[in-house]
Amino acid sequence: MSTVDTVLGSVPLDQLGPTLIHEHLIMISAEFQKFYPELAWSMPREEVVNTVAAALQEVRDRGITTILDCTAFFHGRDMDFVKEVNDRVDINIIVSSGIYAFDYLPYHLSYRVPKTVEDDILTRMFVRDITIGVGDSGVKAQSIKVATDLPGITDNNERILRAAACASAQTGAPITVHTHPADQLGPRIQKILAEQGADLSKVVVAHSGDSTDLDYLRSLMDAGSMAGFDRFGLYMPGTSTMQERLDTVATLCKQGYADRIGLSHDAVLYSDWGPPGMAAKRFPTWVPTHISDVIVPALRERGVAEADIDTMTVSAPGALFAGIRR
Ligand SMILES: [Zn+2]
Repeated sequence: MSTVDTVLGSVPLDQLGPTLIHEHLIMISAEFQKFYPELAWSMPREEVVNTVAAALQEVRDRGITTILDCTAFFHGRDMDFVKEVNDRVDINIIVSSGIYAFDYLPYHLSYRVPKTVEDDILTRMFVRDITIGVGDSGVKAQSIKVATDLPGITDNNERILRAAACASAQTGAPITVHTHPADQLGPRIQKILAEQGADLSKVVVAHSGDSTDLDYLRSLMDAGSMAGFDRFGLYMPGTSTMQERLDTVATLCKQGYADRIGLSHDAVLYSDWGPPGMAAKRFPTWVPTHISDVIVPALRERGVAEADIDTMTVSAPGALFAGIRR
């Protein structure tokens, strides 16, 4: 039986159980917190650890047993924090490699122009996280997170996508690509990843649920990838409403796509992007228990079969982590 590495150790794939495929425990800049701790943390760190642990415990109490944390390099990863939280809550946390950059790359990356994709410092960073571990944490990342957004597929963005695909081909780790679905760049992203050797069945086209365009969504899934319905609760103006997302998922399940749908919230349990409570005020449903409390019951009401709910929450996420070489 194939296993996946989590913060607390190796777990057999068939024991991952109900899984949220895209969440963030913490996003806090390492340099910011090192030099300006009193500005970076809006409350004492210990209090933040306890608050995030309490939020995760509520998720665990709903029967969710695994979370994929999609926080990448340049996105505020803090492995010490994640480990401290996990010491307080019995839940599997899988962490990510990758980089959160739409186009801009800092000089320590942009000046190191790669001769080949294999030689790219980005590829080497991603492979290192998966095969050795993230920093000196001893925890191996098991997923690669990258992002294409409003700037589109620029030269730097394509370099990042190719490095992610190359690292995925070498290690078997899945890739989650943050996208801006209104631009419908998913198929171009898939083409680049496939050209570089990535297995598209191990690619999650994240934030696809912001769109209700069934043709677009089916095109991603027909190419083998998972469409991320991973922003339940975060109903930003200009993106689909909760009802629309529910209708879209129910329709796709009836058409046989449950094994290529992943559910999550893209919740951020703590970040240095703004004062605590800022997001809660704007998006009161954006909590990591929303799917358990509201979405799954609403899907059942729409006639989605229990087997499809099981597929979307357990077997489809689990399959992403099959056969990782580390
Ligand atoms: Zn995210």
